Amino acid sequence: MGNPEQKVRYLKGVGESRERLLAKLGIFTVADLLNHFPRRYEDRSVFFPIAMLHPGQSVSIRARVCGPVSAHRTPGGRLISQVAVSDDTASMLLYFFNVPYLKLSEGGSYDFFGRCEQYGTYLCMANPVYEPAGATKKAGRIWPIYDLTAGLSNTGLVRWIDEALCYADMMPETLPDDILTRWNLLPIAQAYRKIHNPETTQELEQARRRFAFEELFYLSLGFAGIRNGRSEPGACIPVPDMQPFYHTLPFSPTGAQTRAIDEILKDMANPATPAMRRMVQGDVGSGKTLVAAAAVYAVVRSGFQAAMMAPTEILASQHYHDLSALFSPLGIRVGLLSAGIPAAQRRKTIEQLAAGKIDLIVGTHALLSENTKFHALRLVITDEQHRFGVRQRTLLHQKADMLAHMLVMSATPIPRTLAMVLYGDLDLSVIDELPPGRIPVDTRAPGEDKRDAVYGFLRKQVLAGRQGYVVCPMIEDEDHTNLKAVESFSNELREKYFFDIPTGLLHGRMAARDKDAVMQRFVNGEIKVLVSTTVIEVGVNVPNANMIVIENAERFGLSQLHQLRGRVGRSTYRSYCVLLSASQSESTRERLKVICSSNDGFAIAREDLRMRGPGEFFGERQSGIPGLKIADLGADMQLLSEADAAAKAVASADPLLSQPEHQFLQKKLKTMFEIS
Ligand code: ADP
Ligand code: MG
Repeated sequence: MGNPEQKVRYLKGVGESRERLLAKLGIFTVADLLNHFPRRYEDRSVFFPIAMLHPGQSVSIRARVCGPVSAHRTPGGRLISQVAVSDDTASMLLYFFNVPYLKLSEGGSYDFFGRCEQYGTYLCMANPVYEPAGATKKAGRIWPIYDLTAGLSNTGLVRWIDEALCYADMMPETLPDDILTRWNLLPIAQAYRKIHNPETTQELEQARRRFAFEELFYLSLGFAGIRNGRSEPGACIPVPDMQPFYHTLPFSPTGAQTRAIDEILKDMANPATPAMRRMVQGDVGSGKTLVAAAAVYAVVRSGFQAAMMAPTEILASQHYHDLSALFSPLGIRVGLLSAGIPAAQRRKTIEQLAAGKIDLIVGTHALLSENTKFHALRLVITDEQHRFGVRQRTLLHQKADMLAHMLVMSATPIPRTLAMVLYGDLDLSVIDELPPGRIPVDTRAPGEDKRDAVYGFLRKQVLAGRQGYVVCPMIEDEDHTNLKAVESFSNELREKYFFDIPTGLLHGRMAARDKDAVMQRFVNGEIKVLVSTTVIEVGVNVPNANMIVIENAERFGLSQLHQLRGRVGRSTYRSYCVLLSASQSESTRERLKVICSSNDGFAIAREDLRMRGPGEFFGERQSGIPGLKIADLGADMQLLSEADAAAKAVASADPLLSQPEHQFLQKKLKTMFEIS
């Protein structure tokens, strides 16, 4: 008795069959039940005078039964019971359908909750819940509404959770006492009671605040542990003469690019400050690669090495080709390390890297493998930062010593406070300008019946010398879905529309070398139409491609669609993005409309974060951000900064969390971040 870790089966009224249903909700123990927070609440705690009611309102009333219950059957056999009730202001009729026995006695006072309806000129309530006045079990309270599964009722769940709340005092406290006091937070047992059974909305808010704080505290603490401190001065990189670099460019940098470059160079040149930690934020196509290249140039001119990490092999190899071409006239040696490189060549590259014979190494997370050693690494760049897992980032940062400057590049803006939690105190350079001559991508979401016309149009673009992408959500057909798969769909496309046009196929399960070969042929223009999964989502740059068709567009998040669209519109050709979807759901239509009407990645990301929450926004598991149950990173910014302050205080007093009073923090962090 008394152990919240015991199985739900033993709670009154649960039993084995309901235990199976609860398991579907991830509820196995009494503690799980307590942690199944309401999805929303219905305020049944305020009693309305009957004279003030309006049809359509769902409200509580406290009233006297002022007549006997009368009942009759409809011709269809339905039993309808009816009773008149009144309070000091007015009276009304209550109807009950198919309730053979009503526990209402004439003259008694009861609390009712239900929806007011207009019956001719009368106001009435149909099927209200009721209880003796003041019982506060169903009517006179704030009523929690839970996520359910077929076979479970909300009322059942409320009852079992009420039962489970007897165990609340046995639930271990998950926040240190001094933090509870300092930030004025409810102790855990009280918080459980108030989140499930609040007496007032203030109590509810207190409970919610406590649990949201807890989540954000652990989030911050986890990242604080992962982050490097920054106190030592970073390597000093004097600003070199940049003219040779600018001269090799085929275009002149935009004002925004020059500004970002100047900020970076100044930051790295300051001998007094800690190593740079800077995020370059710029929408897709704004030219972040060039800014990174300028930083590399400066570091290499000082005799040091730089590393650039990309989230996909395709992107790594593209950066390698582009940057080799840019840097070879300048005598800067570029190397590539990714999973697809043959072992012998890989070994050689690793040797050269250790010997300082490579100035810039480009790669995927293969850069992180145990045996890569650097000669003098002073700049670490991560491209498309948000696509890396937390642990991958940490590893690379650990390889670089404290002297190394860090530049992260992202097209996906995240709220400032969240960025601070994830990356520490980051400086920000924003590229808020696209290279000249760009025409916004013409984006449309026509009906599926327009597919012929869409591919006919793509065919016309190709015949005019352009290239295009077709994106599908799947690799192979699967029986139970109607999703387009690259393998079968590319055959279909070839037969129907592109019989005389070279097409190619690309997906994540292909061998790295094959991926590379296909991509190279697309870059060279040998392949005209590339049918691909989202492996091309980030970074890929083939300016001649001016049309992208996205199949099953409902499957992709807003930011993802924006990134995919960013594959086109990279030149002065008019570009097109077509979103195809059979889904008629309102939310899909709404989402696609956002993409069609906006070209502003920042606005789209904000909308995306709002619609989907951070876990999915950052690509779920990949992001390394644990799912948040109750905190809302969009709305709880103030709370986040408080929780962040609390976490930083703990982390700086006891960085390893080894003091006895912090060991429970350590344990919880490990499960939260799935660190083994
Ligand atoms: P992203 O910010 O999405 O990483 P890229 O760095 O891939 O963008 O640049 C997109 C395209 O714009 C590339 O083809 C690049 O060569 C080109 N580009 C970058 N800067 C300029 C510029 N200042 N003027 C003209 N074209 C540019
Ligand atoms: Mg890029």
